[in-house]
Amino acid sequence: MYLSAETRLKAILEGTGAGTWEFNLDTEEIIFNDRWASMLGYSLEELAPISFQTWSQLCHPDDVEAAFQALDSYLNGNSAQYECVLRMQHKDGDWRYIHTRGTVFASPQETEARWLMGTHLDVTEEKRRQHQLQQLAESLPGVIYTFVLDSQGQYQFPFLSRKAEEFYGVSADAAMANPQLLFDSIHPDDLPRVHQSILTSADTLNQWSCDYRIVRECGYQWVRGTSQPERGPDGSVTWHGIITNIDDQKRLEQKLERLSITDELTGLYNLRYLLMKLDECAAETERYGATFSVASLDIDYFKSVNDRWGHPAGDRVLQGIAELLRQRTRRADIVARTGGEEFIVLMPRTNLDDARHLMESLRSDLAEKVFTSDSGDAFSVTLSAGVACWSEHTSSVSHLLSACDQSLYAAKHAGRNRVLINSR
Ligand code: GH3
Ligand code: MG
Ligand code: MG
Repeated sequence: MYLSAETRLKAILEGTGAGTWEFNLDTEEIIFNDRWASMLGYSLEELAPISFQTWSQLCHPDDVEAAFQALDSYLNGNSAQYECVLRMQHKDGDWRYIHTRGTVFASPQETEARWLMGTHLDVTEEKRRQHQLQQLAESLPGVIYTFVLDSQGQYQFPFLSRKAEEFYGVSADAAMANPQLLFDSIHPDDLPRVHQSILTSADTLNQWSCDYRIVRECGYQWVRGTSQPERGPDGSVTWHGIITNIDDQKRLEQKLERLSITDELTGLYNLRYLLMKLDECAAETERYGATFSVASLDIDYFKSVNDRWGHPAGDRVLQGIAELLRQRTRRADIVARTGGEEFIVLMPRTNLDDARHLMESLRSDLAEKVFTSDSGDAFSVTLSAGVACWSEHTSSVSHLLSACDQSLYAAKHAGRNRVLINSR
């Protein structure tokens, strides 16, 4: 079936629902089609006589300038076509968003008048949805985003909600233009983990979920990213997701973790943590051969300290010994209060002789330390200790601990206020 070019063009325009306009740049003569007028609720007859003013009177006053700027930009060769979105008033009074596009009709005879020709499309519904999305994004307690990783490893954020600025200190527009800005604000210790988790999610297409810190002027802030990946036909992977602030939750978790491994009265580690570290140390020694030592400490006649000077004074003694232990030991040593008036010191990469020296100096420091009771009386306390070192004869951690206890028991029997080693 033969269809003339005009019929085909008409059919296409009807199919797209586009209005058309033609504007003579030299004479300002203007022509609209029926659809141009009906898009705004009019017939062409109602708008007659049609002139440039027909357009300018229907156009929102704040948008006229933008239209002229877009036209200038096109006529000066700065853009490939004349294009902008304008508000135009419908007959019923509503403002409609109209996407207008046009190009100059290039006449073969340069002498002919220049016509700018183009289309109008009503994009009000699209604008409304955009606005809804924007409002939704603002009301969510996090940053929503779309992230794309292409098959060459290039990445970008086609969409980022405005909250990005609040979280990362980088505006959404800046981050969409340069996605590296968001990665630059991630804590350097967390960045490799973030990269790795993205690659794993791209490989497995499993949900991406990652907790990491963002460095801010006032310190850092914990966030959690969660998003669902999907693979595109070109091999790229796109994630749609949300970044939420988990700072309070993380700090609470860290506090609970700290509490679960420390002794409240002295601030030293507790038995649970010490046993875990002992196991680690034993495993390391088995693998690499470096030895380590352990000392078991117990305060002498502590019951009578309490009885004579009062329980609060007894507590201060425990705290004073903890302070001495902190001062005397090295960073790598683990000091724990393992019972009422009992302590264990784990000394990694330390032989028996060095461990004994350390405990001996601690013992003599304590013996010289003066404590004060609630009523102002001065008193002092002593301790006994048993020291043992991991050797090829040590079969387990509990074996090593019982070796320490045997020496501690022997120290008590030998008159207290002394350090004995178990060289087995
Ligand atoms: P020894 O020299 O044989 O170790 O004698 P001791 O009196 O130190 O040993 P014993 O096990 O008989 O007494 C330990 C005391 O430690 C009993 C208890 O009242 C006291 N104690 C345990 N925990 C605490 C505490 O948290 N604060 C205070 N002030 N005293 C405690
Ligand atoms: Mg005891
Ligand atoms: Mg005791």
